[in-house]
Amino acid sequence: MSISRRPSRQIRVGKVAVGGGAPISVQSMTNTDTRDVAATVTQIQRLARAGCEIVRLAVPDQEAAAALARLKAQVDIPIIADIHFDYRLALAALAAGVDGLRLNPGNIGGPGRVKAVVKEAAARRVPIRIGVNAGSLEKEAMAAHGGVTAAAMVASALKHIRLLEDLDFYDMKISLKAAEVPLMLEAYRQLAGQVDYPLHLGVTEAGRGVEGAVKSAVGIGILLNEGIGDTIRVSLTGDPVQEVVAGFAILRSLGLRRRGIELISCPTCGRCQVDVEGVAGRVQQDLQDVARPLKVAIMGCAVNGPGEARQADVGVAGGPGFGLLFRHGRPVRKVKAEDMARALIEEVRRLAAEEEEG
Ligand code: SF4
Repeated sequence: MSISRRPSRQIRVGKVAVGGGAPISVQSMTNTDTRDVAATVTQIQRLARAGCEIVRLAVPDQEAAAALARLKAQVDIPIIADIHFDYRLALAALAAGVDGLRLNPGNIGGPGRVKAVVKEAAARRVPIRIGVNAGSLEKEAMAAHGGVTAAAMVASALKHIRLLEDLDFYDMKISLKAAEVPLMLEAYRQLAGQVDYPLHLGVTEAGRGVEGAVKSAVGIGILLNEGIGDTIRVSLTGDPVQEVVAGFAILRSLGLRRRGIELISCPTCGRCQVDVEGVAGRVQQDLQDVARPLKVAIMGCAVNGPGEARQADVGVAGGPGFGLLFRHGRPVRKVKAEDMARALIEEVRRLAAEEEEG
C-alpha cells in the first residue's frame, strides 16, 4: 500500500530538491567544531559515504562562518548553516556560499536585519528553514496557547513564516521539533493543514543508541505514514553517521526510499554456528557507501538460514565452521567461518557493480 503524500511546494537546497514530490531526503548535522575545517570535512565525507544528502553545521561565531567557504570547497553535499540570534553570521554564511540557512527570523533582531538576510538569501536562491523547538518557545506563544503545546509551536512557526512572507520570501521549509513524540506529532499535523511549505521532520534530543533511534522512528515514521514530511533528520547523541543509517532505515521500512543495504540477520539462538553479530557489523560498516538497494542476509544456522539467505540478493547461512554463500537464491560456494564477512562483502560489491553496469 503506497503512502499518499501531502502536497507541498518544492524548494532546492543546493542540488537536492525538497518537497513537491521529491524523494524524502536524509539529513544530519556535524558535531565537530565547525572552525576545525579538517575534522569537519572528514565527518561530512563520512556522512556522505553513508548516504547523507544534506548536512547542517553550527555557526556560533564569525570564525566558524569564515570556515564555511573552505569547507564548502571540499565537500560535495549541500551544507546548511545553523544560525541563532546574530544576523551577521547569516550574512557571512551566505557570502561563504552555503546552500541553506536554518534560522528563525523573529530571533535575529529588528525588521532591518531580517530584511538584509532575506534580500541576500533571495538573491542567492538560498532557502531558509524555520526551526521551532518546544524547548525554546517564545513566552508570548506559550502565554497565548497554554504553555508548551502544539498550538503554541504552530503559532510560533506562523509568526516566523509571516515575517518571511511579508518580504515576499517563500523559499522555506519548517520544522516543529519536540523531545516528546506526541507533542511533535500534533504540532506537525496542525501545521501541515495550514501551509504548503515542505516540512523537515525530527524528534529533538531523542537520546542515544537504540532508545534515540526508536523514539525518532516512532515520531518520524508515524508522520511519514500519514504522508507528512519532506526531509528528515534523526537526532542521536554520538556519531552522526548513525543518524543517516537510522534515517534510511525509517524510509526503507515504510517503502519510501530504497537506498543501500538492507540487512536481514537472524537474532541468533542456541543453534547459531557462526559469528552473526560480528559479520553483520562488518558488513554494515564496510558497505555504507553502496547506494544500490540490495538485501543481504546473514543467518546463523541451517534451520531458517538457507531459506532466508536464498530470498536475499546475497546471503550466507552458517554451518559448523563454515558459511554457505548464496546469490539470488543460488548457492555460490562454501567459505570458512572466518572468511564469511569478507566473502559476503566481495559478493555484494560484485553484484552492485554488475547491476550498475547492466
Ligand atoms: Fe537460531 Fe538459526 Fe534461527 Fe539464527 S537462523 S535464530 S541461529 S535457528
